[in-house]
Amino acid sequence: MIPTEMKNLTHFPSPFAGEDKGRGGAASPGTEITAPARWQHELAQAISDPAELIRLLNLDPALIEPARAVARQFSLRVPRGYVARMRPGDPHDPLLRQVLPLAAEGLTVLGFGHDPVGDRAAAVAPGVLHKYRGRVLLTTTGACAVHCRYCFRRHFPYADENPTADGWRAALAYVAEDSSIREVILSGGDPLALSDARLAGLVEPLAELPHVQRVRLHTRLPVVLPSRVTEALCRLLADTRLQSVVVVHVNHPNEIDSAVIDAMRRLRDAGAILLNQSVLLEGVNDDADVLCALSETLFAAGVLPYYVHLLDRVQGAAHFDVEEQVAMRLWEELRLRLPGYLVPRLVREAPGAPAKTMLR
Ligand SMILES: *Cc1c(COP(=O)(O)O)cnc(C)c1O
Ligand code: SF4
Repeated sequence: MIPTEMKNLTHFPSPFAGEDKGRGGAASPGTEITAPARWQHELAQAISDPAELIRLLNLDPALIEPARAVARQFSLRVPRGYVARMRPGDPHDPLLRQVLPLAAEGLTVLGFGHDPVGDRAAAVAPGVLHKYRGRVLLTTTGACAVHCRYCFRRHFPYADENPTADGWRAALAYVAEDSSIREVILSGGDPLALSDARLAGLVEPLAELPHVQRVRLHTRLPVVLPSRVTEALCRLLADTRLQSVVVVHVNHPNEIDSAVIDAMRRLRDAGAILLNQSVLLEGVNDDADVLCALSETLFAAGVLPYYVHLLDRVQGAAHFDVEEQVAMRLWEELRLRLPGYLVPRLVREAPGAPAKTMLR
């Protein structure tokens, strides 16, 4: 599938979901209630009305009605700082295309289903997916700062369950019992939609488990809302015994502005290794020039390209699909034009496979 900060939350609604959606005080019972951080305020101010987005960008008002109709199924959500990186007046802007609901989402297309990955069997405990050897993935929350139109979770916008009183206990118990687990991936939704206090409440007990070596965050927040990279988050990553890996999700070089570059630097200063995953998207990044620029821009920001995912064939996202043959040709072009360390692996997620399928 697609970058796993969105991984499967829809099939395995997180027991921890429904919290920390930028409504402010993000404390769990028993911890102190603090004033909303700046990022939480910015998150609460994210644009959710298609009319506002279209007016802000000086686009044709005829786009409003279809966008509103589609947004009833899967709402529009985009932080203002991300909108500021879009080109006003350009309905084909590659950032806009990722977030603007289009009538095409309503089409039923053969081969595009509601469950393209179908890995229910990987759920081993509430909020825990154990699919690959040595790694587990925790779906920590259902919340995201941005709603990407190609996302898998689009069919289950209300999948959030009430948070359970015992929080992470079942997940931690599962990881504690399996000494083959070397790496714990925090995913979602987006794990950085959780407050720093909630994250610490997960990372700290994981670090107590002697067999766990690494914590990995799959997140889009440092890109769409760079103020999320707080001092407290950096301190958490710097202070933990675990090696930390942050896999961000950038699809187009225009997503990287100076605030994002600063956020990446703070994460690196905290000792995190930074990687990127993208989804190959028609009209966004299905172009060798764009993909080369993406790799170079990421590297300039201290981030290495990791994966380019072929789209999951999810109903409503068919207009983003890039054929495998085209993807392979693009990849060959990257291979000719970039140093090897800037060429991401081209992958697809196959149901039941013991690892991501590497096409290249
Ligand atoms: C993608 C994924 C991982 C991570 O795979 P890597 O190849 O290590 O990046 C782990 N668990 C699940 C369930 C996944 O979907
Ligand atoms: S950030 Fe976008 S792609 Fe990732 S889980 Fe959220 S909606 Fe899906």
